[in-house]
Amino acid sequence: MRVLIALGGNAMTGPGGSATPEEQDQAIAVAMEHVADLVASGVDVALTHGNGPQVGNLLVKNELSAHVVPPVPLDWCGAQTQGTIGFLILDSLDRALAARGVSRPVATVVTRTLVDKDDPGFTKPTKPIGRYLPEADARALSQHGQTWEDRGEQGWRRVVASPQPLEILDAGAIEVLAAAGYIVVGSGGGGIPVVRHDDGSLHGVEAVIDKDLAAAILAPAIGADVLVIATDVENAIAGYGTAEAAPIGRVTPAELRRLQKDGHFASGSMGPKVEAALRFVEGGGARSAITSLQRITDAVHGRAGTVIENP
Ligand code: ADP
Ligand code: MG
Repeated sequence: MRVLIALGGNAMTGPGGSATPEEQDQAIAVAMEHVADLVASGVDVALTHGNGPQVGNLLVKNELSAHVVPPVPLDWCGAQTQGTIGFLILDSLDRALAARGVSRPVATVVTRTLVDKDDPGFTKPTKPIGRYLPEADARALSQHGQTWEDRGEQGWRRVVASPQPLEILDAGAIEVLAAAGYIVVGSGGGGIPVVRHDDGSLHGVEAVIDKDLAAAILAPAIGADVLVIATDVENAIAGYGTAEAAPIGRVTPAELRRLQKDGHFASGSMGPKVEAALRFVEGGGARSAITSLQRITDAVHGRAGTVIENP
């Protein structure tokens, strides 16, 4: 059985999203203990991960040094975080596997994700990223081609496109490595967004891709039977934050679509996870699950978390 695990921010940062190098390394080490348990149980695993806090840190460096070193584009930041997080995962996973007496090679693939150059987000970016800045700083960064918006009292904030992922362009490389026995880390941060020009050539673009939605297309592309979205809650919850809050266990795509339509899942957090889990199963995947890192092995077998399966 092949399983794609999508790791959320909490698997890669300290409490409260704090992202010092030590805290990132520590969080990843803990996450890889759980992943190694799953591998040791005999499941064929591939990994993907978010990169929000890490890209946030790079953006701050860009801002603070813009008058000395030209800021690097957002797609470069995505590529950098794939490298750094990927390397940290490899070291931690190697250690956790060795401790279990499991001998498996690991690899990270720098991964590009195709998006539509006509995606409406490119003419009207809406996804806020990074810090709030005073108007003068925001105007200075606008000189580098960035779009900044006046957000009132808190200051100005950069907005970028958040296009739909269409295709994981390097899925073939991930597949080949997985078939050769590698545990592969790929499509970090949803993949580096690229567009195809009319002459067929590919070019990185300044945008962010939702890592869960990208996972929903990476999973079938690498022949995964199960997609597990690992986050910091054990279940998706209906009536989240209300007196009627009820964790969702086993659910059919139709039932979950109904809850989604009734507005049970917040757009910036649980929403894309539910959408990704639904797309995978509606597209022919056997099972998807949304659960906490601690429960991934049980969730793979349908024994924990919110488990989406056809009836
Ligand atoms: P990650 O960083 O792992 O991708 P997010 O922080 O984006 O995770 O999303 C997980 C969070 O979503 C939970 O910690 C919870 O605060 C929030 N959330 C919003 N709506 C729901 C819901 N209906 N059920 C469960 N959690 C929800
Ligand atoms: Mg989070």
